[in-house]
Amino acid sequence: MPGFEFFGEEERKEINDVLQTGILMRYGFDGQRKGIWKSKELEAAICQRTGSSYAQLVSSGTAALTTALAALGIGAGDEVIMPTFTFVASFEAVLSVGAIPVFVDIDETLTLNPRAVRAAIGPKTKCIMPVHMCGAMAELDSLLDICREHGLLLLEDACQSIGASYKGRHLGTIGHAGTFSFDFVKTVTCAEGGAILTNDKEIFIKCDGYGDHGHDHLGIDRGADLHPFIGYNFRISELHAAVGLAQIRKLDRFLEIQKRNHSLLKEILSQVPEIGFRHIPDPSGDSCTFLSWFLPTDELCREVVSELKGQGNLAGNFYWFDNNWHYLRKWDHLKHIDSLNNLNNPQKEALQKLKTTSFAASDAIMSRCISTAIGLGWTEDQIKQRGAVLVAAVKKALAKQFASV
Ligand SMILES: *Cc1c(COP(=O)(O)O)cnc(C)c1O
Repeated sequence: MPGFEFFGEEERKEINDVLQTGILMRYGFDGQRKGIWKSKELEAAICQRTGSSYAQLVSSGTAALTTALAALGIGAGDEVIMPTFTFVASFEAVLSVGAIPVFVDIDETLTLNPRAVRAAIGPKTKCIMPVHMCGAMAELDSLLDICREHGLLLLEDACQSIGASYKGRHLGTIGHAGTFSFDFVKTVTCAEGGAILTNDKEIFIKCDGYGDHGHDHLGIDRGADLHPFIGYNFRISELHAAVGLAQIRKLDRFLEIQKRNHSLLKEILSQVPEIGFRHIPDPSGDSCTFLSWFLPTDELCREVVSELKGQGNLAGNFYWFDNNWHYLRKWDHLKHIDSLNNLNNPQKEALQKLKTTSFAASDAIMSRCISTAIGLGWTEDQIKQRGAVLVAAVKKALAKQFASV
């Protein structure tokens, strides 16, 4: 899955280009940088690879979400509908702009259930934020329909899904804006970094300024830039962009390997009729960073997880239901509103309700789900061995259950 598995000469060469000039900053110093503009080059490469009209690099995926939300005009009092299964960064960004995260149930796509989204729309709803978890996509057509009907914005959290597409269009380029993360464990890494994608020039210009103190980037003298609005510093450095530039050139190779490894593992797991798989709205667009599979009951799933754990074979297999980072059930800090600073009242009121809200539909899916991360370095034999371990654990759990009835 992560591009760091393939860190090498190419990345070192791009970093060295920057070290030769010593201009580590992405803006200004035009003469001294001797034509080296790694951030600009990476933005152009992202547009070229994804078909997005514009891309703005920032310092992280979280910064990308925050910037996108601000550029879309989302702030105090606005509600953003998001799934119960995501990374904590998604709600962090919403809270940071003063807006309210509204969590709704997922379905077997492992992201937003369009019916649950409809039911959550109210007068304060401003944006729908699907999270394309584990390299594959939400039901985007249904979500786009809902946005059109209700005049809502669509912000795609595609932080985990570079290289994935929906009906021929790259994830992150379909809504009003989308985001990538280039943190160290993502498919393409900069060490730390992120990007906002949009086809709307106005939104792009806002992102460009927001991540650099609101500077308008219009003059030739950076020090004399004007500030049409208030911004922050979410800049990426040239060193980070250099790593990403070498990595994005390897993306198609990563995808090819992932697809091959994913399909071999899926074939092996498919031999067990009790195993089901995540619903992927457009299977040809899956980036195949993970294979997510289901067992018929949560008891069986727990049994398989504890069997794998006992054997020391759980690594690389994620049981999100018990995971502190990715599923609302374990986000106690959010439910207890453990914030260092004071949140606004509508935010606090919304979060207070989380402790007593049931997400039974999400629990029923997540408690039966295991996601296996697809390695880039796996050999065919290793995949077969991994598959055999998983199949054996499932069969053992099934036999145990059968014996106990
Ligand atoms: C990684 C990730 C982010 C945030 O990215 P960082 O670069 O780590 O800040 C946001 N959303 C999702 C779904 C992610 O997986």
